[in-house]
Amino acid sequence: MIEKYKVIEKKKVKLPSTIRKLILCENTTCISNSIKEPITTEFMVLEEKPLKIQCIYCERIYKLEEIVFTSKEKKEKKVIQRIQLI
Ligand SMILES: [Zn+2]
Repeated sequence: MIEKYKVIEKKKVKLPSTIRKLILCENTTCISNSIKEPITTEFMVLEEKPLKIQCIYCERIYKLEEIVFTSKEKKEKKVIQRIQLI
C-alpha cells in the first residue's frame, strides 16, 4: 500500500483578512462600543506572524496578547486555535 506512505498534505488555514464579532475593541471612544448604536466589531488583519489586528473603526492596533475576546471561552479557544494553525 504505497498510498499509506504518501505525505499528508499540510493544510494551510488562511486567516480571514477581517475578524468580525469575536473580538472586542477596548477603546472606550470607539464607535463599536457605542451603547446607543452597538456595531459589530471588525478588525483588519495587518500581520499574521505575529498576529496584529486593527480596529476598522478607531484604527487602534492590537497584538495577540492584547486581544480581548467576546467573553465566551469556547469562542476564544476557537479563535486561538485558528490563529495557531497558521
Ligand atoms: Zn475600535
